Amino acid sequence: MKLDHIGIAVHSIEDALGTYQHRLGFSLVEIVAIDEQKVRVAILPAGDSRIELLEPTAPSSPIQKFLEKRGEGVHHLCFQVKDIQSKVKELQSASLQLVSMPSDTGLEGRRIAFLHPKSTHGVLIELVESELEA
Ligand code: ZN
Repeated sequence: MKLDHIGIAVHSIEDALGTYQHRLGFSLVEIVAIDEQKVRVAILPAGDSRIELLEPTAPSSPIQKFLEKRGEGVHHLCFQVKDIQSKVKELQSASLQLVSMPSDTGLEGRRIAFLHPKSTHGVLIELVESELEA
């Protein structure tokens, strides 16, 4: 599976851009809001994948909860899959636990699903359906 992006939880996208954009030199493509997930996302390409800075937009945001518990840092890794429905079935039959079933709540309405960190040695893994990569 190809790495689609790395999600990094931050308190403030503007603050984090001071580091990622201005000091580290990544370029900012855009900042979008995903209302369903109560986050604002800054997209910074990094080679074939990208960094997504995730800022909560509501106290009930999963990112807000993560920040309270763990502080800023890597929140999840996202990998591309060709057929998310069959991939999820395959993972479930391999006893991997899901946080959410596939739904259209990713950026640009892409279909995504999350695997529970308990199943993946402490890392939240997102799967995104993509025609580019298996
Ligand atoms: Zn993500």
